[in-house]
Amino acid sequence: MLSKLPSHLVKMKENSTEIEIKQKNPYSYNGDVLISSGLPPQKKDGSKSQLTEKEGNTSENPHRKKVYIESYGCQMNFSDSEIVASILNQEGYELTEKLENANLVLVNTCSIREKAEQTVRKRLELFNGLKRKNKDLKIGVLGCMAERLKHKFLEEEKMVDLVVGPDAYKDIPNLLKEAEAEREAVNVILSKEETYGDIAPVRLNTNGVSAFVTITRGCDNMCTFCVVPFTRGRERSRDPKSIVYEIKQLAQKGYKEITLLGQNVDSYLWYGGGLKKDFSKASPLQQKTAVNFSNLLELVAKTQPGIRIRFSTSNPQDMSIDVIDTMAKYDNICNYIHLPVQSGSDTILKKMNRQHSRKEYFELVDKIRKKIPSCAISHDMIAGFPSETEQDHQDTLSLMEYVKYDFGFMFAYSERPGTLAAKKIVDDIPKSTKKRRLQEIIDLQRVHSEYRTQQFVGKTVCVLIEKNSKRSSEFWSGRTSQNTVAVFLKEKYKVGDFVDVKIDEVTSATLIGTAMGLSSSI
Ligand code: SAM
Repeated sequence: MLSKLPSHLVKMKENSTEIEIKQKNPYSYNGDVLISSGLPPQKKDGSKSQLTEKEGNTSENPHRKKVYIESYGCQMNFSDSEIVASILNQEGYELTEKLENANLVLVNTCSIREKAEQTVRKRLELFNGLKRKNKDLKIGVLGCMAERLKHKFLEEEKMVDLVVGPDAYKDIPNLLKEAEAEREAVNVILSKEETYGDIAPVRLNTNGVSAFVTITRGCDNMCTFCVVPFTRGRERSRDPKSIVYEIKQLAQKGYKEITLLGQNVDSYLWYGGGLKKDFSKASPLQQKTAVNFSNLLELVAKTQPGIRIRFSTSNPQDMSIDVIDTMAKYDNICNYIHLPVQSGSDTILKKMNRQHSRKEYFELVDKIRKKIPSCAISHDMIAGFPSETEQDHQDTLSLMEYVKYDFGFMFAYSERPGTLAAKKIVDDIPKSTKKRRLQEIIDLQRVHSEYRTQQFVGKTVCVLIEKNSKRSSEFWSGRTSQNTVAVFLKEKYKVGDFVDVKIDEVTSATLIGTAMGLSSSI
């Protein structure tokens, strides 16, 4: 098969296979450093970065204070770092990618699994070492670890100068003053209203093409394994006007794709502000004029027909038929749904406090496939939840066989202090069993991913060009509506173009094709 391909495609195919073999878990984004600095690295040829051109930042100004931000965890954390960068910009700070130049080092933390916490601790130890050379350096912890570890980091271990929870970023300027005066600088208060709707994020590490737009904060789901409701607070939605405005600004700057972000986007509900759980206390008028997720999706799709729209994450119990209908109605809403299930066993789903059964999940997947046959679906899965039997694990594998997901993000269960599972259920699955089950899930996902990418062979798909391919600078890398990565020879095309690409070859994660011309669709 390979020998029939043109030589440039043979090269790509070999390289792509190599990537996949090297990757342990190609789907895990948690724990990765999403940004290592505010400014993307200077290109080798010395040309300006996209951020420099788009956001007006030039090379570092020696007279301005510098902040170095590292971000861990999910897309929400990454998006929060962009808000923090914006707040600090107003305070005269400039982003730096050089630790040695920083007056302030911030680590935006994740506590979703134990490993993420350990990584952050190691980084903080290293940053503390810098204080020997730079006595005025301030170090701060932001985000999800703030609440749980504030005393430990600040008072016991004296590793940081300030601790800021996810709803207190607007207080950073005051907290910095406190830290400079050697006073305790902590704010981990969770808010009922804060959505940062009035802050224009500074886009970090941007390709100038795709951006995240946060639409909800917090979570009310109370899944027993999950620390999010405790670290990020209760669910609240952002004013649709500010969402539409932010997307309009992005479109004017040349962005081509936005992802609406939230722990549970389908649960979006704007009724004038306030917690979702208080909706029943709103006035009849507020209730009548409330905007739900399908309304918001339609509003964004209609007002920005030239922008691709994605969203994440969808909780199965909240995904309505209206959302699926809206997706089917608008070409600029991508045919892709991230639909975490966590387990295929009804017993485990119940113990996880997921609000749906295996059967209801299948019904939802069937509805999606009926209305949008080409829709890609991905999952999050947890292996080795407490009390999970071999049969429960087999149920997970058989659920995967039914859905044949396009991608997946797969994790071994990690007990998180403060969660309902940690309080009530003994973590009784041996590490080796968790590891083996996780590997079986990953292996099966690889088979399904390959099955899904094979369906593209011979077809022509619209690809939005995002960046250079990692493996060859002669190739562009972009994504299809289904969120599948596609690579092809650059020819005359440029970043941000929508290109029709005929798919010649695939691996389990990548489509390799030939550009046929600029696309008339998106
Ligand atoms: N809101 C989404 C939901 O619940 O469907 C995702 C939230 S979480 C930031 C991302 C993923 O991390 C979860 O879907 C879950 O698979 C995984 N995760 C969360 N808590 C975990 C834990 N204690 N151990 C292992 N994985 C966990």
